[in-house]
Amino acid sequence: MGKKGYMKYLPLFAHLKGRPCLVVGGGKIAAHRARLLIKCHAKVTIVAPKISMSIQTLIYDKQADWLQAEFDDFHLIYQKLVIAATNSKVVNRLVYQQAKQHDILVNVADCPELCDFIVPSILDRSPVIIAVSSGGHSPTLSRQLRSRLETLIPVSYGRLAKLIGRYRETVKAKFSKLSMRRRFWEAILQGPVVDHVLAGRDNLGERTLRAILDGIRPDQLKQGEVYLVGAGPGDPELLTLKALKLMQQADVAIYDRLVSKEVLALVRKDAEYMYVGKQRTWHAVRQEQINQLLLEQAQQGKRVLRLKGGDPFIFGRGGEEIEILAAKNINFQIVPGITAASGCSAYAGIPLTHRYYSQSCIFVTGQLKNGTLGLNWSALVQPRQTVVVYMGLAGLSVLSRQLISHGMPADTPTALVQQATTQNQQIWVSSIGNLPELAEREQPVSPTLIIIGETVRFRVKHFLS
Ligand code: SAH
Repeated sequence: MGKKGYMKYLPLFAHLKGRPCLVVGGGKIAAHRARLLIKCHAKVTIVAPKISMSIQTLIYDKQADWLQAEFDDFHLIYQKLVIAATNSKVVNRLVYQQAKQHDILVNVADCPELCDFIVPSILDRSPVIIAVSSGGHSPTLSRQLRSRLETLIPVSYGRLAKLIGRYRETVKAKFSKLSMRRRFWEAILQGPVVDHVLAGRDNLGERTLRAILDGIRPDQLKQGEVYLVGAGPGDPELLTLKALKLMQQADVAIYDRLVSKEVLALVRKDAEYMYVGKQRTWHAVRQEQINQLLLEQAQQGKRVLRLKGGDPFIFGRGGEEIEILAAKNINFQIVPGITAASGCSAYAGIPLTHRYYSQSCIFVTGQLKNGTLGLNWSALVQPRQTVVVYMGLAGLSVLSRQLISHGMPADTPTALVQQATTQNQQIWVSSIGNLPELAEREQPVSPTLIIIGETVRFRVKHFLS
């Protein structure tokens, strides 16, 4: 609205500690506004004849005072700021008019034309605070924008800002010119200090900052790092925020067959891509070579993304990959992912546990070794337990036969979930006895997970595609 280049509001961050602020109204919005003011340590008074439960809690906790009354002009005495959030337009307008007369800053909730200031949507990464406003045009839009920022700006930015704040004076003393200070901080914010703090290694971040201040060039401190990231079962929306962040800052991405192409598409475009896909019978690159590759890439100072299907620590050999890094003092981060059992269970509508029918759930590998399965059969054949078999396709007949010969009823419900969470997801439900026949008929392809147990009966059918 208005002339080009004209901005209706100037964003300001007000320091309200100890200042008297008035909230008129006793409902939900009043409570929300009062809580915001309390968060900033303002001295909050609430005027309302009646108050909701959430305001009662604030009063009870002595976080605000309550004047049990209809709003009156004299309530404004000494107040610095007033918010009207009653459900009466007449009262709200009255508050506005009186506040104007006393020259007190006023905000009427949900009524931009009666506002000296507006309350934005807030992303709190204190001391970093981001405020989003649509100038009263669409609070929903501002909230949406705020959630988008939420995913972009990790919580650890608050800690990062605090660390930098502690060194502001030291840096000022060292670099007298503003332009030099600016360049210094720019370099810091693009370097290893940030990586350390965002990874939760605050002490190392601070030590690195001090070393740089002591005269070491930032590029001398450039350290490689490995991100061992769980990519989930396939659907890119099942990635964690942390996974996505690291995927977008990696210099090189090392991935295998289980990582879906939709997930891979979210890796930084100008990263180097390395496929080290493994298949049961064909090892594109052997595990030891992968371990070595991770080490070498990190030693070159790169941020190495090791992307693994599902969770890296569930049948993922993630442990072996970091062992060598730890031995060579290479930094690494491990990001959990949604494991196939969770992905299959949720997307197939099959619960893994049930209050009455399954009180435990066990994950096993069904990978054949020399044509056999060396599993602890008696531990698997237990009542009220769900058994989830990873990598079980090739050994499926052996599995079925062994479980039955160890006492599992042949009619135990069993599901095959193929390529769960992807466009090609398929689910077949049968029994452990009929499993080999089912597989013979349907020819499921990899990756497929087997879920065995009574909970398969509780499959929520509307998930059927
Ligand atoms: N680390 C992975 C598992 C690796 S083992 C995880 O946590 O999920 C590989 C096995 O996982 C496959 O043989 C298959 O049994 C299972 N699997 C992985 N992704 C799957 C998917 N999208 N659908 C069904 N099974 C899957």
